[in-house]
Formats: sequence, C-alpha cells, structure tokens
Amino acid sequence: MRVLVANLGSTSFKYRLYAIDGIDGAEARMLARGGFERVTDYGAVIGQAMDELASAGHKTIDAVGFKTVLGGDITGCLLADEKVEQALLATADLAPAHNPPYAAGIRTFRERLPAVPRVALFETAFYQWVPPRAHRYAVPEAWYEAGIRRYGFHGASHKFVAERSAELLGRADIATAARNLYIAGPAASPESATQNPKPLRVISCHLGGSSSVTGIRDGVAIGTSMGLSPQSGLPQNNRVGDLDSGAIPCAMRRLGLSLADVEKQLTRESGLLGLSGVSNDVRDIKTAADKGDARARLALDAFVHGIRHWVGAFWLEMGGCDALVFTAGIGENNPWLRAAVCENLAELGLVPDPAKNAANATEQNLAAAGSRAQILVIPANEELVVARETARLITSLKK
Ligand code: ADP
Repeated sequence: MRVLVANLGSTSFKYRLYAIDGIDGAEARMLARGGFERVTDYGAVIGQAMDELASAGHKTIDAVGFKTVLGGDITGCLLADEKVEQALLATADLAPAHNPPYAAGIRTFRERLPAVPRVALFETAFYQWVPPRAHRYAVPEAWYEAGIRRYGFHGASHKFVAERSAELLGRADIATAARNLYIAGPAASPESATQNPKPLRVISCHLGGSSSVTGIRDGVAIGTSMGLSPQSGLPQNNRVGDLDSGAIPCAMRRLGLSLADVEKQLTRESGLLGLSGVSNDVRDIKTAADKGDARARLALDAFVHGIRHWVGAFWLEMGGCDALVFTAGIGENNPWLRAAVCENLAELGLVPDPAKNAANATEQNLAAAGSRAQILVIPANEELVVARETARLITSLKK
C-alpha cells in the first residue's frame, strides 16, 4: 500500500510517501519526500507535490495520513471525513497554529483526490486510556462537559518510543502490544496492568520545537505533561507551558493587557524565548548561556527543572522506571541537556555513561554498566507511525 503522510504547518507543507507491506505494516519503506515553505495556497502546493511524485514514477497513492492535533471528543485513528474537518475547526481556539492548516489540507485533498481515502491519526490518541484521575482538572463539572480536560499531545512520537524502547529492551511481547494499541486497545486494562509482576515502565521525553514527557506502562500512556492545549506542560520554544491560572487576570489588570494580548504573548512570546530573551532555539540559548548570559542560563535551567519534575512524577506513579528515553531535535542532539536531566539520580538507579552520552550517536543506550534503569536515545519517527496506522486502518476497513 502507498501511503502519503501530509505534514501541514501554518505556512508549510511537507510530505513523505511510504510503501507499507505486511499485514501489520511491519515493513515500511520511505519512497519519496519533499516540502514547501511560505505556503499561502495549499491547493497549489499539493498539486505541485502530486506532480513531483508522478514525475518520479510514484503515480499511485492509496491513502493520505494526517497527524492531526486536537479534535476534542474525536480522537484515535479514523477516516478524516467532514466531521473530522469540523471538529478541527471547532477546537481551533486551543490549537490555533495546528488545527486550521490541517482542516484546510484535508479539505484540499478531499477536493483534489476524492477517491483517495484520508486518515486522521490524532496526537491525542495515545492518551485515550489515561485514567480520569490523571486527565481531569479540578474545575466545575460544566467546564469538563465543555471539553476542558487534559488531552495530551505528541502521541505519535511517544507511541513510537513505546514500541521501539520495548524492542530495544528485549520485550517483544510489549512491543507487539504497543504496536497493536490503536487497532486492538491495551493488552490489559490500564488499571489491571498495575498488577503485572514484570511491567515495562518507560518515561519518554519528547524534546523539540515543542516538548512533553509521557509515562508509559506496558506500551500504554498513563499520563503526560501536556494538558488541554499545546501551551501546557514544559516551557515550549515560544509557548508558555504550565502557568498558574491566576496569572492571566493578574497580568490583564497589572499590565493593562486584553485577552487577545495575553493569548498572543503566551503562545508566541513566552516559553524559552520569553525566559531567555535570546531565541526560541536551544542552540542559540546555549551559546548565549556559555558566554555568561544570565537569562539564557535561567531558561535552560527552567527547562531542565520542568523535565525532571515530570520525570519524577511518572517515576513515582509507575513505582519505578526501566528506561528514560530522549527523542526529538533537542533530546537527540544535546548531550549537555541529557546529562543535566540525569544528574544525581544514582540513588534511583539511573546512571549515564558520560562517554556514551558525549558520543551523541543516533539510536543508543547511554546507561553506565550497573545502571538499573536504561537511558535510551531514540530518533523520533512520527511519520512512520502515521503511515503505518493509516495502512492498518484502511486494511481493516476493507475486510
Ligand atoms: P519540531 O519538529 O517540533 O520543529 P524538532 O524535533 O526538529 O522540532 O526540534 C527542533 C529543535 O531541536 C530546535 O529548536 C533545536 O533547538 C533542536 N535541535 C535540532 N537540531 C539540533 C542540533 N543538531 N543540535 C542541537 N539542537 C538541535
């Protein structure tokens, strides 16, 4: 099956074409990739992408997969029909940078290639089994009924980590269960999984343009740092992360800001950019911190503090940790940050090997000999998850 994965940003369109063979999508090969920046007309660039693929000999596309972000009550891996387009628009206030481009992209594919099925794999899908005690906020019931709860994001990335970490740790049973999660549901009920005498407890740190930490027991997410919107959890590149709800009315009163000003400042001028005053990219912030810039140093320290806060929360919740995983642009490429996150955890049984960490190889285990918990770097592979789940859904619908 040929699956096109469409990655839509507010001004970009990137694509990857995969050939997925094998009943469970175990064999996946990327055939082509490409992309466009500064996009104003999705129809035009999607047409251009189809022409590029056709001239490279890729004339057949069996399905298009989308890594959609937030659809409120609509989640999981499902056909991206007009109901999905509407759900994306209805929740666009919570994911303004992500939902409108996906709604527009899905509509454009529907209009241009009506015979090719479209599939949405929601970033919230991985958190379907997080128990209410971990996804409810302590707000009046009417707020919950209006959809105000913790959803979680980066689901495709953390799901890849769930599968790959189990494979690397020699737990084929868990790797298979993790792979089948969206098709078959959890192998054991998330609550009864706590009785498993030999659970696999993974804490996954997706650290990139935006970041989150997720606790994963036996391939199933038990909680995550991201909440209602992608503005939550860790300080993000330019989005705020967790913030006391009292801060918003307080800033409006003290600084004379409108609600629109607050939203703009919290979604574009906060996070690592707001703290450091230097950049939204950790590379620039690290350079400035190394030259003695105090705000840049503070931004990095606050980021590490946030990561350790959530690692600690899931460590306790799962009664231990078999592997701490680093993934995405920041997690894969910054030995200094991994060292800072792992500092002083020997008492908990987690000890990195400085030489392995400094070598900064792609996929690797950084744990020192004798470390009880493993420390893995796993390159992010979200597109593969989207391609595979798309193929599996289309195959299951044909049966
Ligand atoms: P996204 O897909 O969300 O845009 P990525 O996972 O690609 O984000 O991560 C982007 C971030 O990763 C950049 O902001 C940068 O700070 C960091 N990063 C990427 N490459 C490197 C590198 N070679 N060295 C250090 N940091 C890097």
